[in-house]
Amino acid sequence: MPRKRLDLTGKRFGRLTVLAPAEDKRLPSGETSSQWRCRCDCGRETVVARRNLRFGATTSCGRCDPRRPMNARRRDEAVSESAQRVHELPSNPFADLANAIVACAADDYRTALKEGDRRSLASLERFFHSRWYALLTSLDPDRLISRLKAEA
Ligand SMILES: [Zn+2]
Repeated sequence: MPRKRLDLTGKRFGRLTVLAPAEDKRLPSGETSSQWRCRCDCGRETVVARRNLRFGATTSCGRCDPRRPMNARRRDEAVSESAQRVHELPSNPFADLANAIVACAADDYRTALKEGDRRSLASLERFFHSRWYALLTSLDPDRLISRLKAEA
């Protein structure tokens, strides 16, 4: 006995106008999904599963939908937003903090030079050559040290 189907002929879903019932689609689960032949505003015809029409999942033939590029754009925006955030980091709070730490260590080094505090000098030099320092700045540690020594 044929399943009674809701007649969607003539109904509009987004850019699609339903023309006629199409052949049922057999799903991998064994169920059948009723489909409709639709005409898109762009003139293309397409077959859409009823539930995709009803739930608004499909609102065009998919090749002209202005909403598709918008979805793609939204994804790009999300990507560029996080990329932007990453780009902002070195130039904003992190960079300021990193510069402050390096500047502070440089100040300590100047003071240690002035006071002839060899222990502080040694530990600061260790810091300047550490991975932690390399993470904070691209300033060459030996150039920094010789510059500080020249200043003293
Ligand atoms: Zn279309």
